[in-house]
Amino acid sequence: MRVFSNPVGAGSLWFDNLTTADGTPVAYDPQARAFLPMPPFCANREVIGCNWIAPSQGAFCQSCAMTALAPDPSLPNAMLNWAQTEAAKRWALDNLGRWHWFRPEDPGTRPVFHLLAEGATPVPMGHINGVITISVTEADPVLRVSRRQALDEPYRTMIGHMRHEIAHMLWWRLSLRHDFLDAFRAMFGDEQADYTSALQTHYTNGPPPDWKANFLTTYASAHPHEDWAETCAHLLHLTDIADSFVAAGLSSPELPDRNWDPYAETDAERLITVAASLTIGVNHINRSMGLSDLYPFVLSEPARRKLAFVHDWLRRGAQGR
Ligand SMILES: [Zn+2]
Ligand SMILES: [Zn+2]
Repeated sequence: MRVFSNPVGAGSLWFDNLTTADGTPVAYDPQARAFLPMPPFCANREVIGCNWIAPSQGAFCQSCAMTALAPDPSLPNAMLNWAQTEAAKRWALDNLGRWHWFRPEDPGTRPVFHLLAEGATPVPMGHINGVITISVTEADPVLRVSRRQALDEPYRTMIGHMRHEIAHMLWWRLSLRHDFLDAFRAMFGDEQADYTSALQTHYTNGPPPDWKANFLTTYASAHPHEDWAETCAHLLHLTDIADSFVAAGLSSPELPDRNWDPYAETDAERLITVAASLTIGVNHINRSMGLSDLYPFVLSEPARRKLAFVHDWLRRGAQGR
């Protein structure tokens, strides 16, 4: 993520800021990718702390307008969890906008979000025909860590959920093209394989013993759809890590140049290699505070090829090229 300039004074603004350091209200304009000091602010600003601008007074911002179902506010912590979920959504959408997804120049369908709180039963997350369902209750750190441990995952966050589920929607968008599916199947396998039984087998037997040789995560080995979603989420992770590294003014001999824009990089192999090298350094920094690694994954050669494939399609997919 970029770091933004303050429109009314000195200093920087971060993507989630609602005000400047001295308390002046500001809002983020996703079209201009800049902060503005004047309304109209999003109608959800007072409700869940959305800091985006709206097209008119009393309207929702571009991101909140994509939320068709919001959680039942009577469920415990629903509003707080929803606010964090929308923040992760804005972040993921803004990143994707760097490759033109869901911006005015993108002629395709926008995602529709169902952001639901869990009552007595869990909310299954997923995507069907452009509709993305996310459990806002996963924003609760205790619940999330207990599920992460139960599933033996090295990483589980709201932004990770957003990227994974939006990735399924991006696959669906790309699958409407005439030229995508053959290429996809050659790289990831046949996604027409029975999904339900594949997931059952995954949860009963676990991943194949050699999963690390071909997949980024155990879940990616369950089915070509999940391999795509995990790989796509990881491309978004890695590109954002590299972009944030540059935006923070950090330097590394691995960077092509000081003003390098990872989203403009056309060479996927270069992007992946640079980002992976940066993660090694930032993992080391995290250990200085006793924190878990920023990016606790190893990239095999097949996984790199799949990341490059996703990069190629995400770069041109939103513009019909
Ligand atoms: Zn909003
Ligand atoms: Zn999935």
